[in-house]
Amino acid sequence: MFLQAGANIPTPAYTADAIAHEVGHGLGLRHIYPGAQAPGEVMDYDFAEGMRESFSDLVQQIVEPPTATGDPQTNTHNPYYHLKRYVLG
Ligand SMILES: [Zn+2]
Repeated sequence: MFLQAGANIPTPAYTADAIAHEVGHGLGLRHIYPGAQAPGEVMDYDFAEGMRESFSDLVQQIVEPPTATGDPQTNTHNPYYHLKRYVLG
């Protein structure tokens, strides 16, 4: 996460979401498609100010930058399941 001179100052909620997102990557979590199935998911790109973000327990389609489109192999990921697996073993 980088701050640019002259850019908008991120809100505390955005900063907390970004930190949780990057920690999730450090623990092996993938990006998931931002959709109505899991609004407020930490591992998507769709931060919404005022919405409580969390790690979803739903199976979601993986997306990767730079296109942020769905994985053509339709691989899926359950952030909460994997978070528990990586942290608890
Ligand atoms: Zn990311």
